[in-house]
Amino acid sequence: MIQIQDHKLVTDVNQFTFDATENHSGPFKDGLPDTIVIHYTAGASYGSSVNWLKDKRAKASAHLVVGRKGEVVQLVPFDTVAWHAGRSQWNDRTGLNKYSIGIEIANAGLLERRANGYYTSFGTKVPDEHVVIGQHKHGDIEQAWEAYTSEQITMVEALCVALMEAYPIKEIVGHDDIAPQRKKDPGPAFPLEAMRSRLLFSRNDDEVEGAGETEDTVPGIITASLLNIRREPNLQSPTISEPLRQGTRISQLQQHGKWIKVKVELEGWVRRNFVKLVER
Ligand SMILES: [Zn+2]
Repeated sequence: MIQIQDHKLVTDVNQFTFDATENHSGPFKDGLPDTIVIHYTAGASYGSSVNWLKDKRAKASAHLVVGRKGEVVQLVPFDTVAWHAGRSQWNDRTGLNKYSIGIEIANAGLLERRANGYYTSFGTKVPDEHVVIGQHKHGDIEQAWEAYTSEQITMVEALCVALMEAYPIKEIVGHDDIAPQRKKDPGPAFPLEAMRSRLLFSRNDDEVEGAGETEDTVPGIITASLLNIRREPNLQSPTISEPLRQGTRISQLQQHGKWIKVKVELEGWVRRNFVKLVER
């Protein structure tokens, strides 16, 4: 469980550190922050990105940076305006820095295709298994992007849950949502829509406790790029496996408010000597 005290992540939890940057403005106004903005760093490494966001010449910062292993450094307290959004607009607001928490995720972003594989803008080769081919929501061609690690995706969601408990967060957006002309982060490799719907549209589950119980089995298909599957129908419940991928076939066994209990349908070949068959 991630805790926030005095507008900082409680850092005695192993993965969290606080490392102040001077790149910030004053305190948020009352009732703010109410928005979270997700970014990728497009840096050479987690360390170099953190150092740059602490450098005055960057004129940029973020509240949090999440490394490839899910490690987290906080650079700006959550009651203070950081500089991550730049020129931006969302609904009737402009300049989202003064409304939002910025989370940077260490990720190379858009990759370049060369004869023997994919490369970051720093010229580092990215292994094929870390490459996601996808079309940006504001683009019209498929491009290559560095994959986020499952540790990063899990950590970003947990951070959002903690921030939603501490602040009146009502929106989670990508930098590419609030600055669509200029920005591509976090891009199609990040499951932002799935995370938004889990976090923002499932908060009133308690009010519909017990509603919609059914024993009918209904087939379905996962539409989110990655979808957590949990032991119990609530966001605090532990996941029981790796997230389900888009296109996975399921059967709905039960409904409970905005949650459904599913059975995952999977068919394929496995090596016989690694399976113990049980008679029945
Ligand atoms: Zn950004």
